[in-house]
Amino acid sequence: MRFDSHIERLLDTTVALVNLASPGEAHGTAYDPPVGRDLVAGVADVTSTPEQRSRPTPAEASALLEVVPSARAVFEAAARDDLAAAAAIANDLLDTTRARPRLDPDEGGRFQLHFHGPDDGYVRGWQAGIASGLAVALGSDLGGRLGVCEAAGCDRVFVDGSKNGTRRFCSPQCQSRVKAAAHRARSR
Ligand SMILES: [Zn+2]
Repeated sequence: MRFDSHIERLLDTTVALVNLASPGEAHGTAYDPPVGRDLVAGVADVTSTPEQRSRPTPAEASALLEVVPSARAVFEAAARDDLAAAAAIANDLLDTTRARPRLDPDEGGRFQLHFHGPDDGYVRGWQAGIASGLAVALGSDLGGRLGVCEAAGCDRVFVDGSKNGTRRFCSPQCQSRVKAAAHRARSR
């Protein structure tokens, strides 16, 4: 089961931004988001593509991160199967970011559906893209694919791209930590 590649990229970026900027726990240890220049560099990394390096200003990076709490709340609601709550938050995000779909040509002359903000600036463009990616996921059969890691000591979000949709952990590290803990419990 796969999303359109553009939607997939928006969702991957959303996951990376939420995990970058949300305090909590990651892979068994406490997580504090980076600050200052490190945070700006993190936002730049996450929003860069192989073709184009993003260079947000500190103000742009923090403006973009304003959508993170709502985006995270969408994952949390979807993870507890409350798709109505997830949809309500995504609808609010679509409103506040004023996302609008638009067909843009690619290099091959084919058209791809992109999601723009009220202007094509970095902050509004990405915010609208994040809102749209979450909305498209929730509006498809794949709404339940937005998840929060179930491992102890981890609250990172993920998109489940597995065939059967049974992913429970954010990463292979968390999966093997849980396996090892279960093994230790059994052998005691
Ligand atoms: Zn995890």
